[in-house]
Amino acid sequence: RQEKRTVICEKEEIMNILQCENVTKTYKMGQTTVTALDGVDLAVEKGEFVAVVGASGSGKSTLIQHLNGLLRPTEGTVLINGTDMRKDPVKCKSFFGYVPDNPDVYERLTGMEYLNFLADIYRVSPAERKARIDRYTEAFGIAAAVRNPIKSFSHGMRQKLVITGALIHEPMLWILDEPMVGLDPMAAHVLKEEMRAHCAKGNTVFFSTHVLEVAEKLCDRVGIIRNGELAAVGTLEELRAQAENGESSLEDIFLDIVNGGA
Ligand code: ADP
Ligand code: MG
Repeated sequence: RQEKRTVICEKEEIMNILQCENVTKTYKMGQTTVTALDGVDLAVEKGEFVAVVGASGSGKSTLIQHLNGLLRPTEGTVLINGTDMRKDPVKCKSFFGYVPDNPDVYERLTGMEYLNFLADIYRVSPAERKARIDRYTEAFGIAAAVRNPIKSFSHGMRQKLVITGALIHEPMLWILDEPMVGLDPMAAHVLKEEMRAHCAKGNTVFFSTHVLEVAEKLCDRVGIIRNGELAAVGTLEELRAQAENGESSLEDIFLDIVNGGA
C-alpha cells in the first residue's frame, strides 16, 4: 500500500507539462505602452490536446513565443515540465518541438542537411533519426525532395520539412503556431492524425489556429485569446456554459466571448 502511494505521488509530481503564471508582455512605442499579453494563466496537463484560437493580432504567436522561450515575459513565469524557462531554457527546450508560423529555414542547406543538423542539436542517434526522417518525409511526400537545396522548395514543402525537423527528437510536447496554414489538404490530414496519435500516447499538443472547426474537432480544450488576454479556456462544454446565450458551436461561443467581453 505504501509503495502504491509513492508511485501515485511521483506521477502527480509534474502533471502540467506547460504552465503560465501571470505572463505579461508590454512593448514601449514612443510614449505609449502596448500590452501584447495580459496576465495569462494557463496550465496544460500531460496528454492534453489544446488549441488557442483568436483573431489575427490577438496575441496567439506572442503567447507561443513565450512558451518556447523566444520572447521573455515582462512579468510572469513559464514552466515547461516543471522547469522555469528563465532558469534553465535549454532543459525546457529539450521537452518540446516548435513549429513556427513561418517556415524560415536555412536556404542553402539541403533538406537532409537541415534535418541532420537538428538531429545533431537534439542528439538523436543515427538509427533513430533515420527512422523518424523516413517516417515523416514519406508521410508528407517529401522523401525524394529532401536531397535538394531548401531554396528550391515551395512554401508547403518548407512547412513539411520544418514539422519533420521539430519532431525529430520525438518531444513529449508539440508547440505549433498555425501549423495547417500553407499545407495541402493531404498534408494537413497527415498532421492532424499525427497530432491525435501523439496525444493518444500520453503526450501533449498545444497549437494555435484561426480555423475554429479544426480546434472544435480535434481538441480536448480550447483557449480563446482576445487582445492579449486569455478570455476563456475549457472544454467545449465548459465554454458553452460560459457563453452568455448558451451557444452551441465553437464559432458562436467564440463570437459571443470575443464580442461580449469589454
Ligand atoms: P496573432 O498571432 O494572434 O495574429 P500576434 O501575437 O502576432 O497575434 O500579435 C499580437 C499583438 O502584439 C499585435 O497586435 C501587436 O499589437 C503586438 N505586438 C507584437 N509584437 C510587437 C512588437 N514587436 N512591438 C509592438 N507590438 C507588438
Ligand atoms: Mg500569429
